[in-house]
Amino acid sequence: MVVAHDKPPRLTARGLGYRHGRDFTLQDLDFDLSAGDMVGIIGPNGSGKSTLLGLLSGLLRPDDGRVLLDGRDLAALDRAEAARTMGLVPQSPELAAGFTVLETVLAGRFALMGGRMFENAGDLAAARKALDRTGLTDLANRPAGALSGGERQRLALARALAGEPGVLLLDEPTSALDLDHQLRVMALLERSCLEHGLAVCLVSHDINLAALYCDRLLLLARGRPVASGPPPEVVRSDLISSVYGVRVLVDREPVRGRPRITRVPPTYDPAGLPPVPPSNFLKNA
Ligand code: ADP
Ligand code: MG
Repeated sequence: MVVAHDKPPRLTARGLGYRHGRDFTLQDLDFDLSAGDMVGIIGPNGSGKSTLLGLLSGLLRPDDGRVLLDGRDLAALDRAEAARTMGLVPQSPELAAGFTVLETVLAGRFALMGGRMFENAGDLAAARKALDRTGLTDLANRPAGALSGGERQRLALARALAGEPGVLLLDEPTSALDLDHQLRVMALLERSCLEHGLAVCLVSHDINLAALYCDRLLLLARGRPVASGPPPEVVRSDLISSVYGVRVLVDREPVRGRPRITRVPPTYDPAGLPPVPPSNFLKNA
């Protein structure tokens, strides 16, 4: 499943395969990400989304196929070289609790610092800009260990942004964020794609949010690609229902006209019967 493109891809994967022991196999994965793209990976728990990001970032080595970063085999690039081009926001970022927010974000400059031991004015400017873009400026001197879950998640994003990557991979970057910050983060990524040609690939469980912002989606199930393309080609009730095992209705959200799913509770029959009251909890209140 390769979507044709006019721009040369920054990140390419062909025939990717990976085995976690005997129980899980990711296979037949082709993937292209070009400058300015915003691609979302969706799929149920355990479908291989994080494994795929691990392969695309070079943290995992594929058993089959290969990943190219700007046309060069990721397996042959040294880690510092790859890190200068590609940023990763992991699903469960490791943050040193005793470092301040600013120090943590400065760590995102490491691959760019070469042999320098200390940050220079350019590093500080990039770190402060990343703090500003993620709304963390007021927390710059707070220890990272004293942040809320959502603030920590934005800190991991800020650290990646401070490295000024051309390719950014994010694993569930909005999972701990409130409604406002979910949109802020997605809008920030979208703007970076449009204005600076950043290439973004993000994993999300929020299909509606992914469909609202991403130009393309890739739907995984049990380690295999099930559908890929613009949101209307992937967010279809038949596909989503069969992959997730839940009934969904798909319509278009009114702001951008992107597909939007509504889950149908099992007891609700939209063809006829009225919804079953949730329980008799009101009677007992
Ligand atoms: P997702 O991110 O889509 O929820 P993952 O890519 O994290 O899924 O995992 C895919 C499957 O591989 C899961 O069944 C998971 O339990 C398994 N898995 C992940 N990491 C390992 C590992 N290090 N060893 C063995 N199995 C693993
Ligand atoms: Mg995951």
